[in-house]
Amino acid sequence: MTAPVFRFAPSPNGELHLGHALSALTNQRMAQASSGRLLLRIEDIDITRCTAEFEAGIYRDLAWLGIGWEQPVRRQSEHFGEYQAALERLQREELVYPAFMSRGEIRGAIMDHEATGKSWPRDPDGAPVYPGNDKALSARERRRRIDAGAPFAWRLDTAAALAGLGSPLDWREWADGNMTATSEIVADPLQWGDVIIARREIPTSYHLSVVIDDALQSVSHVVRGQDLYFATSVQRVLQEVLELPQPTYFHHRLVLGPDGRKLSKSQRDTGLNALREAGETPETLVARLGL
Ligand code: GLU
Repeated sequence: MTAPVFRFAPSPNGELHLGHALSALTNQRMAQASSGRLLLRIEDIDITRCTAEFEAGIYRDLAWLGIGWEQPVRRQSEHFGEYQAALERLQREELVYPAFMSRGEIRGAIMDHEATGKSWPRDPDGAPVYPGNDKALSARERRRRIDAGAPFAWRLDTAAALAGLGSPLDWREWADGNMTATSEIVADPLQWGDVIIARREIPTSYHLSVVIDDALQSVSHVVRGQDLYFATSVQRVLQEVLELPQPTYFHHRLVLGPDGRKLSKSQRDTGLNALREAGETPETLVARLGL
């Protein structure tokens, strides 16, 4: 039997905080308990917000926590060609469409709709789902707008993607970090509407690169925070249409701030660097995380 493959996949667009420490340590422990491998992946497709300093901070903080990872580290910004190839396949199969509506136009369409007394669907993050108007544009009109330099993003035609699947979509989720039992979770990608798959300037998005990389790196176990639980629905549909294997998932608890909200990269007091400078040790940190 091949060894399980885990990965920790931070984005170098801020300092790692306690939530990242919990995620990295949970991956490490599950990998050790199952004689598995642990990979580190740098998710830096957003080249405007990711920096070499934050990336160096990731290596420093993980080493301080006593976490080791395999070399070479995969940096997504070095693999745009692979994402582009997957995007082209989705384009050929007409499962993505260029979406031209600006934020203001989206807001306007939703306000018009809500003015009639009906509510507009929101995605699991609370954002209004994208109105599918652009799906009706002819191929000629799409070409005309693209050639004229109109801004757009490639969006998944989620309904079309689902229609092509033979069986209901679900995923396997570990009940807890002990890897004793999994349950089948029903995926519901329609609740996200037509998500962005790639941008005009960047041939990928978070969802597309994650599924491509998890497959290319033979990741068998995706262990990450509950904030990405619902995103799994989108990733499952992409895995199916791109004929990629499906890993098993474990979405662990989140570390919440004193206000009961999820930690963010801008809250400097929970950053691992700040905690280390304030005298925290890896041992006190593990205790603080309740591990
Ligand atoms: N890069 C994502 C983040 O930093 C995590 C992606 C994943 O684990 O699937 O939130």
